[in-house]
Amino acid sequence: MSMDTGWLADNWAQVRLRVDAACREADRDPAEVGILPVSKTFGPDLIRAGVALGMRRFGENKVQEIRDKSAPLADCGIDWVMIGHLQTNKARDVARLASEVQSLDRLELAEALDRRLQHEGRAIDVLVQVKTSSEPSKYGLPPEQLPGFLNVLRGYDTLRVRGLMTLAIHSSEPAEVRACFRLLRELRDRAVAQGHDLTELSMGMSGDFPLAIAEGATEVRIGTAIFGSRPYPDSHYWPEPPLKA
Ligand SMILES: *Cc1c(COP(=O)(O)O)cnc(C)c1O
Repeated sequence: MSMDTGWLADNWAQVRLRVDAACREADRDPAEVGILPVSKTFGPDLIRAGVALGMRRFGENKVQEIRDKSAPLADCGIDWVMIGHLQTNKARDVARLASEVQSLDRLELAEALDRRLQHEGRAIDVLVQVKTSSEPSKYGLPPEQLPGFLNVLRGYDTLRVRGLMTLAIHSSEPAEVRACFRLLRELRDRAVAQGHDLTELSMGMSGDFPLAIAEGATEVRIGTAIFGSRPYPDSHYWPEPPLKA
């Protein structure tokens, strides 16, 4: 099956240009800011087209989707990055299939992942997801619990803690969004001052990444601006048929 994916190449190039422009605006080196393509709800053919354009890591927010997509894409050498809320009982599949988890937000999950990773004989990169806004729907560790949590994580050899991740408040007020990103950077800087080796700040999405870059993002997670809009964000993912509206 062949797809016309010229539009994908255009989007990918455009996003890189916009990230580079945001870096210049913030007096930062564009080489410091990576782009994580977020492929949730999109199927293997489109992801394969992304691989052909040089994408190698893909962000997904459901373990089931990583399972469904990793098999037909096994030849692509993809690194799957879990960015969504993770139930403890899914730790086994994540330990088998993911190269990184950015949504580590509680001790119970760290324990479950560690146990499964030991069983698999592997280690993965993790980011601690921090709740930087007061929106009730957002997952993440409360900021005041971060220092203690990072100290506990030192005890898990299978979890290489690389940095922090957050979702900003959904707001049309840039100052409110930016405050979330700033808080994450300050938390990282404080942790570094306390001796933790944290570099990564995964923050910013299609709608707010320039603000995140201005506040120090080292990785932006981009779905819509690369792959297009997701018509059924909550109820549908490949390969289920779309629900009729
Ligand atoms: C979907 C998602 C993104 C990407 O969102 P877009 O607005 O489509 O760029 C980033 N981070 C997380 C955690 C997501 O679930």
